[in-house]
Amino acid sequence: MAHTPEIPEKYVCTACQVVHVGTVSAHTDAGYRYEVPETCGCCGGTEFVSESEWPHADR
Ligand SMILES: [Zn+2]
Repeated sequence: MAHTPEIPEKYVCTACQVVHVGTVSAHTDAGYRYEVPETCGCCGGTEFVSESEWPHADR
């Protein structure tokens, strides 16, 4: 059985810059699908950008 490590999608809260791991929303043949968390557990913010886009995000 193939076992490939999954790298979860990560999202950065634009308010406090804490990184959150995306919520698993679906299991697909290609792996898992991740969704942006609804709210930041640290500051309650709701604005997230994916970690890979963070360096380009306007502040
Ligand atoms: Zn936050």
